[in-house]
Amino acid sequence: MKRKYFGTNGVRGEIGDLFTPTFISKMSSAIAAFMESKGTMVIGSDGRVSSLFVKNSASSSFLASGIEVIDIGMVPTPLVQFAVTHLKTDFGIVITASHNPPQFNGIKVIDQDGIEVDLDKQKKIEDIYDNEQFNFVSWEKNTKVAEIDLKSEYINQITSFVDIDLIKKKKLTSIVDGGNAVGGLITPLLLRKLGVKVHSINCQIDGRFPGRGVEPLPENLETMAQASLFTQADFSVAHDGDADRAIFGDEKGTIFFGDKTIALFQRWILNNEQNRTFVTPISSSNIVVDIAEELGGKIIWTPVGCIYVSRKMIETNSILGGEENGGLFYAPHQSVRDGSMAAALMADILSKTTVGLSELVENLPQYHQKKHKMECSEQLKDIVMNYIMNNVQDAEEISTIDGVKIFFSDGWTLIRPSGTEPILRIFVESDSPEKAQKMLKEGINLINKGIKDSC
Ligand code: MG
Repeated sequence: MKRKYFGTNGVRGEIGDLFTPTFISKMSSAIAAFMESKGTMVIGSDGRVSSLFVKNSASSSFLASGIEVIDIGMVPTPLVQFAVTHLKTDFGIVITASHNPPQFNGIKVIDQDGIEVDLDKQKKIEDIYDNEQFNFVSWEKNTKVAEIDLKSEYINQITSFVDIDLIKKKKLTSIVDGGNAVGGLITPLLLRKLGVKVHSINCQIDGRFPGRGVEPLPENLETMAQASLFTQADFSVAHDGDADRAIFGDEKGTIFFGDKTIALFQRWILNNEQNRTFVTPISSSNIVVDIAEELGGKIIWTPVGCIYVSRKMIETNSILGGEENGGLFYAPHQSVRDGSMAAALMADILSKTTVGLSELVENLPQYHQKKHKMECSEQLKDIVMNYIMNNVQDAEEISTIDGVKIFFSDGWTLIRPSGTEPILRIFVESDSPEKAQKMLKEGINLINKGIKDSC
């Protein structure tokens, strides 16, 4: 389903470009009209320089449309999602551009169940926007804003899902890198409540993100790695701009990317559960497949995107989901990714083992991945993808959940068209770097043949 304004996670744009006061006001009025101009909503924002203006601009449109606004201040995205279900409001809005550079901002729309609205609802909001079918109320029905601080309630709910006494006894030490963003307002407080000693980095809010790039990528987490090595902290954790993601490091200063953290959660959390299904996007590593086999559980694949994981978890009553970018979904708390919940669960896991985090990760299955992207025009994308599906050789299984994932006996290749650029992305994984390189070469050849054949 093609959408004009909504992307993978809400509507995003650059301030002064797409995100003008007029656009924000019209888009918020369209959301209000979709919600039939009644009821109550929660609004919260990240710590960007522009977030206050965007939030107030959006709030004005909701008030003019007759919707009661509850402003919960500067908070992580998962705290807004918690607030929607905790306060039983009709919907919620998060003003955030997550990991995008500081000049960007965005609007995420949260449904009554705390999960972002689905694609169908996004499309309906866009239609209202395009047709300007707004629904402003008369002056005597204009509503008001209530301000509430829910940080304590949110932290208390998270701590209720871990063994506080055991964690306190373990006397863990941690590094928290907030990225100058809203995660720094929650995770240090949360971990200290659990008796974990916290050394904080970049935990002062600064919407220009001077401490590091706002996305928790390897090149942005050097300081955290060095601090871990220096202090030998039991674990380190870094959040993105709205703290729905968490990337971890061990006591030796090694930062784990990809699927290692989610596999660790899968092994340690699902082992004690009846329902051992793990929900994850099709791009995830075979590590999660191996762990599912070890536990006698199963994997449920989804398209790439956190909304798909959340909705599938609800549909299948699954406890745990995970994304390789550091998204961890724990249903007893809420079926959305939550960086602070992930930090508390990591402390819980480490309180229950006698070995360090580095050893826990070393004991996971080891795979090697490679990535590449290739230019392919919008007109050719579908034709090339069809060619690939019909010309794959030696496949054990092919999945078309999102792009084409080809499972071989010794690894897999995933080819996905980008939703925003004229490119095809190719990911491969195998049990040796040589095999992964060979599979990448074969995948690139297949795409090239598809492009040539289609011209
Ligand atoms: Mg985020």
